[in-house]
Amino acid sequence: GSTLGVMGGGQLGRMFVHAAQRMGYFTAVLDPDADSPAGRVSHHHVQADYLDEIGLARLSGFSDAVTTEFENVPADALARLAEKRPVAPGAAAVAIAQDRAEEKAHFMRCGVPVAPHAVIDGDEDLAAVGDDLLPGILKTTRLGYDGKGQVRVTTRAELRTAWDDLQRAPCVLEKLLPLAFECSVVVARGRDGAMVHLPVQRNLHRAGILAVTEVHDGCVAPDLAQRAVDATKAIAKGLDYVGVLCVEFFGLQDGSLVVNEVAPRPHNSGHWSIEGADVSQFELQVRTLAGLPLVQPRQHSPAIMLNLLGDLWFRDGQERTPDWAAVLALHGTHLHLYGKASARPGRKMGHLTITGGDVAGVRATALDAASRLGIAPF
Ligand code: ATP
Ligand code: MG
Ligand code: MG
Repeated sequence: GSTLGVMGGGQLGRMFVHAAQRMGYFTAVLDPDADSPAGRVSHHHVQADYLDEIGLARLSGFSDAVTTEFENVPADALARLAEKRPVAPGAAAVAIAQDRAEEKAHFMRCGVPVAPHAVIDGDEDLAAVGDDLLPGILKTTRLGYDGKGQVRVTTRAELRTAWDDLQRAPCVLEKLLPLAFECSVVVARGRDGAMVHLPVQRNLHRAGILAVTEVHDGCVAPDLAQRAVDATKAIAKGLDYVGVLCVEFFGLQDGSLVVNEVAPRPHNSGHWSIEGADVSQFELQVRTLAGLPLVQPRQHSPAIMLNLLGDLWFRDGQERTPDWAAVLALHGTHLHLYGKASARPGRKMGHLTITGGDVAGVRATALDAASRLGIAPF
């Protein structure tokens, strides 16, 4: 049989491995951690740093084709692998997605509106910032995720302090926008340029971390949803992208749509598709990597996904295990735990997807499940 390799051993890699194995593939994971969520369920686990020559040689030795699950895998590592094996997505597309400044430049080239922003890479840039960008959010151009590496600032003094706090790393200052809602679109693009997508997903973030995703008819107004899908396809095509990609959007209070960022991989907001659609985002990743046909996924149930963050493992200063039995007693709940060794506040430990016959029922069950687990209502 053939073997599909993945750079990164987190939960996204684990769900990729599950999808690949179901379809008859062997899997190989490269991750520096000896006990990563994907490494422990994969046929092969190469424990090495992403740029380690021997590790990369071992991964490509096992694999017929290689993908990535972790946004911060160095693009260089993908470029080196590509000398030996087909790699999707390609290093050039991933490099753009890894840099907020380049990413925004790409969005503008594709004609998709972005938040007003300025690149901060020196004291002159800081001095030149216009008052119209305040209040704003200062974000490092590289390596941020789950709201890490960003600081909200109101005044110029705060901006200066925030940049020092971020070690004066290259940053983007974005205007703080009046959000009405957030949404995202997962698209898969084959080597031949064929594209399919999942329905638009409505996302609720708390403290910079995705908390809840809802996917059902009308969760985003149809004209806005169409704009988001069109923009996502333009962004993927412009990158000459091969693989699964997710684009995050802001819906503003004036009815306009602004692109936030792109993830060159399946996305937390697409996890619902494992149970809610006939082709999941991870099966799409397998299909694009293996050169299999892409069919438009069909959603067969309204879905709500609740992220299970490490906070749930702590109550009154005591560590505990959340009451899974209480939520599994409800109809249509699907529990995913990623097998991470230890819980920390804010850490993504798992997720719970709720499916059912109608939106009202799914919502009621999701609210019930949230309350049983101690997740705030939404
Ligand atoms: P991810 O884990 O999705 O990669 P990230 O660390 O890259 O997150 P962003 O997506 O840039 O962070 O921002 C996280 C959240 O902060 C957004 O989903 C949104 O809720 C809020 N946010 C970010 N930028 C803005 C903005 N310009 N105006 C208003 N809210 C914003
Ligand atoms: Mg991000
Ligand atoms: Mg984001």
